[in-house]
Amino acid sequence: YPAGSQQDGETSLQELAALCETAGARVLEGLLQRRPYPDPATYLGRGKAGELAEIVAETGADTVVADTELAPSQRRALEDVVKVKVIDRTAVILDIFSQHAKSREGKAQVELAQLSYLLPRLRGWGESMSRQAGGQVGSAGAGMGSRGPGETKIELDRRRIHTRMAKLRREIAGMKTARDTKRARRDRNLVPAVAIAGYTNAGKSSLLNRITRAGVLVENQLFATLDATVRRTETPDGRPYTLADTVGFVRNLPHQLVEAFRSTLEEVADADVLVHVVDAAHPDPAGQIQTVREVIGEIDSRHIPELIVFNKADLIDGDTEIALRGLEPNSVFVSARTGEGIEELLDRIAQMVPVAEVEVDLVVP
Ligand code: GDP
Repeated sequence: YPAGSQQDGETSLQELAALCETAGARVLEGLLQRRPYPDPATYLGRGKAGELAEIVAETGADTVVADTELAPSQRRALEDVVKVKVIDRTAVILDIFSQHAKSREGKAQVELAQLSYLLPRLRGWGESMSRQAGGQVGSAGAGMGSRGPGETKIELDRRRIHTRMAKLRREIAGMKTARDTKRARRDRNLVPAVAIAGYTNAGKSSLLNRITRAGVLVENQLFATLDATVRRTETPDGRPYTLADTVGFVRNLPHQLVEAFRSTLEEVADADVLVHVVDAAHPDPAGQIQTVREVIGEIDSRHIPELIVFNKADLIDGDTEIALRGLEPNSVFVSARTGEGIEELLDRIAQMVPVAEVEVDLVVP
């Protein structure tokens, strides 16, 4: 699982493996089962779950990660079969977001997402974890699980979580106002804004580095960029513009994180030009482009002029390049690694950056 073609399943599993590595785990084995829907009791079917238990025993794995969100009862049943901790994709993504959130707003958004993930699972965590020793990858609930709360305790925790969530929501609303004010100030400066968006791991941070030598953290990790980084730069003929790196897109983003993700995407909604970076060496670039465009549509930003940039040109052959040009005729091919195509990219951005309006104070004698 998940359903779909074999190819979809494999791509999704590869991405899950990359997510786990980003979260700091070492991936030992992948197991794909095709079924019309997950087994309601154990997620995988009985036979497949047994096979998984054998793999776990052979490899000495200490954790199993499922590619979709598990019901608390499914997680418990599967833990009973495989005898190690079982978590789901959402827990991994939440963990990564919590490791990478830097700003106060980013941190508050992630904590809110963690709590809303935890809330319906309180009973599950408690019961299961009091039987199974050990913590869990998702940092939310680590304390919760090890305490193994009884019913009253759970009610108390639940109420406390609701209170905390309400507080976080108020704080976030306040920070949003501050951000709007800051943006309005920037708008008054009339400096055009270019936003770099794209699927996670496409090479957005690397490109931003190339362009501005900003020294933004570059890691072979998903979500190295959670909070947008904004840098000032200029066109070859000396017109200033800002360049903002945005959070990476990911398939099946947990719904708890959609808000956190949206708020960092507001940077895109404000932009005059959208530089949409695509990993040219990815097995499904068209799918990635479509995912990103759908979200851009959801934040009402489809009207912003878009430049498709195929990055990692150093990794592809001539045939792939021809196919990608067929897909996106107005695209640019670059390599953030070798520097190939960067000048053309800067020229293309310069053509798209609107000429700044100049405020003229009329001095009337
Ligand atoms: P982001 O998540 O979109 O910001 O992606 P990063 O900039 O963090 O890059 C993700 C990974 O791809 C890193 O390991 C980079 O070193 C690698 N990478 C980025 N650009 C290129 C490129 O042009 N060629 C190659 N071969 N690798 C690249």
